[in-house]
Amino acid sequence: MSTNPLPTDDLTAGPVPLLRTEVPGPRARTYIARDRAVTSTSLARVHPLVPNRARGCVIEDVDGNRFLDFNAGIAVTATGHCHPQVVAAIEAQAHALVHYCSSDWFVPAYTELCERLVALAPMPGPTRVFLGNSGTEAVEAAIKLARHATGRPNLIAFHGAFHGRSLGSLSLTASKAHYRGGFGPLLPGVFHAPYGEPGEIERTIFRHLSRPEDVAAIFVEPIQGEGGYVVPPARWLAELRALCDAHGILLVVDEVQTGVGRTGRMWAIEHEGVEPDVLLAGKGLASGLPLSAVVARGEVMKWEPGMHGSTFGGNPVACAAALVTLDLVEGGLVEQAAGRGDYLRVRLDRLAASYPVIRDVRGRGLMVGVELPDHDTAVHVEQEAFRRGLLVLTAGPAAVRLSPALVVTEAQIDTACDILDATLATMGA
Ligand code: PLP
Repeated sequence: MSTNPLPTDDLTAGPVPLLRTEVPGPRARTYIARDRAVTSTSLARVHPLVPNRARGCVIEDVDGNRFLDFNAGIAVTATGHCHPQVVAAIEAQAHALVHYCSSDWFVPAYTELCERLVALAPMPGPTRVFLGNSGTEAVEAAIKLARHATGRPNLIAFHGAFHGRSLGSLSLTASKAHYRGGFGPLLPGVFHAPYGEPGEIERTIFRHLSRPEDVAAIFVEPIQGEGGYVVPPARWLAELRALCDAHGILLVVDEVQTGVGRTGRMWAIEHEGVEPDVLLAGKGLASGLPLSAVVARGEVMKWEPGMHGSTFGGNPVACAAALVTLDLVEGGLVEQAAGRGDYLRVRLDRLAASYPVIRDVRGRGLMVGVELPDHDTAVHVEQEAFRRGLLVLTAGPAAVRLSPALVVTEAQIDTACDILDATLATMGA
């Protein structure tokens, strides 16, 4: 049974970070010991954090320690933790209808969310939507859809890509060999090219590995997430679009991490003016409830009834949370993410000017990576920041990523950058 008390005070009112005990504190240590005894050994916990309640960009652990959250649960809580309107929508939907399988019946919240996503789709013409529970499921569905729509077997993805961990999506993932190790053989017919390098698909894959007419789809993140918050060179995504057009290949844009306003546009692909055939959303879509979407051109999503489905996918409570999330994102959070992202970049660029150990600051909106010389240094910053009450994560070989909720304030950005400054100063960086 949870011992967590209901919130009685405003978490965001006082100073944050606020560390009242050593971290982890006594209650956290108890949970960690219990957890380690019963959970899968595959879980690679980054910090000894035991969250109890949260609001906006603030997390309080079971010992009452308050952390500034620049992870947003890995780019998930787009509207901030427990946004009151999202919580109210969840409550209302939970009172009305918690579950009915949308693959077999017509659930209003499912229909409404699909209508909304169709209206927001960054591609012209009619589009259709399939809802799942996770980014991985969206990728998995898109693999099937691409093969079905084209009648072709092969798929292309990129070094550094992260698309999930089920066997199909893992076959596309190429961010760390460790993720793939021991799970083979993976899906045949998947080829990888270097990310952001023009002409590489033609030079390597089309020349040596697969004829273009055997390729169903190219899966690409418009900014690589787990791979290190890598922004590709301008025009590269447009070149992929042209390559797809030339060979009848589908362009599948994985916006699971970049989507729903995080980069200062609803979809990151809009920065490049490129229209995908299929767009995948997840993470921030329902502000923390499990939900993902495959948004596809009508002429692509033509599979027959029964060919794909899900018991829980597009659960009405998650859809209700998503509808309010989209209201909030469209109602100003996209612009706010762009503005706060600029502010964050200015502050980080200033840090980079003082600390040569910062090799690069990159990203868009509130998806910003700080490149350090090596993985150990990135881990050191991640762990030292935690000791000081700031939650950030490493990404890729040597970056620390900042992906706060879209509601982050300038004062919170100042605090986070001051903590990074203090962390780098003690490293003699
Ligand atoms: N695609 C991208 C770009 C991601 O960043 C992730 C997760 O980090 C996924 C897919 C998989 O999503 P999930 O963990 O919700 O299955």
